[in-house]
Amino acid sequence: MDDSNGIFGGFIFLSILSAPSCRTPRQSCPTTLDPLDMKIQFLKIGVLAMGCISALAQAHEHGAHVHGSAKMNIAFDGLQGKVELHGPGDSLIGFEYKAKSAADKKKQADALNILETKMGEMVVFDSASACFWQKDKIEVAFEEGGHSDVNASWLVHCQKSLMNTKVIFNVQKFFPRVKDLDVQLLVDTAQISVEANKVGMEVLVK
Ligand SMILES: [Zn+2]
Repeated sequence: MDDSNGIFGGFIFLSILSAPSCRTPRQSCPTTLDPLDMKIQFLKIGVLAMGCISALAQAHEHGAHVHGSAKMNIAFDGLQGKVELHGPGDSLIGFEYKAKSAADKKKQADALNILETKMGEMVVFDSASACFWQKDKIEVAFEEGGHSDVNASWLVHCQKSLMNTKVIFNVQKFFPRVKDLDVQLLVDTAQISVEANKVGMEVLVK
């Protein structure tokens, strides 16, 4: 090894030490999240354009609790995606107390089963993309004051990119109490915000 290599190595080392600041757009910050989770976090806090991951610290996990409203985040990095749905128990189950009666337990189980099995019908990706849904988690979180939220997420694996394809939303076909569904899509470079408030709503990904 000659002297120039040694100097070069030292330069790289110093650059790494001084790199992780978050002042400008498009500058990446150190993180342990995988790219899809980063995209989801960006969608939640709405700072994608700022491009700085340090804002993750300010992320609020569940957002506002408004009966009749729900939020969906869809993030794709190439062929791999993650979809999250967050909404009040009132909107997705029909009540927010802990189910005790057999009827309420069945009602809750039916709602969660729809989330488990029908996402491919609620959010319809282009058939040519041949996407496969895989449940990540589906949970009911009880809050103080007698409220509850349903937090669900799925991993999606596709054979072809969703760019320049249509996504069709049919959430109200299964959950008619969701009057206001705010959807954020981030598919590679495409970022789209849409209110999917009726069955059959179509969005072109581009
Ligand atoms: Zn509530």
